[in-house]
Amino acid sequence: MRYLILSDLHSNLEALEAVLRAVPPGTCDRIVVLGDLVGYGADPNAVVDRVRALAPAAIVRGNHDKVSAGVEPADSFNDAARHAATWTLDALTAANREYLAGLPAGPIILDEVLELCHGSPDDEDEYVFEPTDAIEALRAARCNVCFFGHTHVQIVYWLSGSDFDVIVTGPDEETTIRVEEGRRYLINPGSVGQPRDGDARAAFAVFDSDRGEVTLRRVTYPVAAAAAKITAAGLPEGLARRLALGK
Ligand code: ZN
Repeated sequence: MRYLILSDLHSNLEALEAVLRAVPPGTCDRIVVLGDLVGYGADPNAVVDRVRALAPAAIVRGNHDKVSAGVEPADSFNDAARHAATWTLDALTAANREYLAGLPAGPIILDEVLELCHGSPDDEDEYVFEPTDAIEALRAARCNVCFFGHTHVQIVYWLSGSDFDVIVTGPDEETTIRVEEGRRYLINPGSVGQPRDGDARAAFAVFDSDRGEVTLRRVTYPVAAAAAKITAAGLPEGLARRLALGK
């Protein structure tokens, strides 16, 4: 089974379309979404419509989905994120708001082979940045392969007994990792719509459960077009600027 793993789309239609063009229909069996479909970007309805049409096999909610659908207050958000969430709540159609409000919290286990969460298997809103957080998350995971999002950083952590390592992807368009027997993996596919690892390219992953391989991928997309829409919508200028920086 081949799974297309998408996370942190953040209302960036140009990035989502570039990713879907890079993975033509039929090349993956199932689509999985790790949350934050909306927030920050200017195309919430188009992105939610696109995701709904893809009929994901599994999807979990992100913190921006909750706030932008009115499920939670924006208390933990900075000014730009709060502004964008309020704007998104107003822009969403009733059907799309309802869809986001009804998304389940992670973690979810799919096909008994992969676990999905937005933040960590322990806490959907937790940020896994530090190795200590990653080790804790790896211990909390119930599957040997667990995908997470939220940090917008494409990265792989693995744990086997007392052995632990981190794999950071470089400038290549794709990096393939073999899933070794006896190791537990915590994998962030990176963010489709607002990468923050210093690489502006849209990030995603493909997991082939039969071959035991995860391919972390990057694709270019028309960043200037997505940024111009953010500016035209009257959203904070920093949200437009950061797309080109990948931060
Ligand atoms: Zn996010």
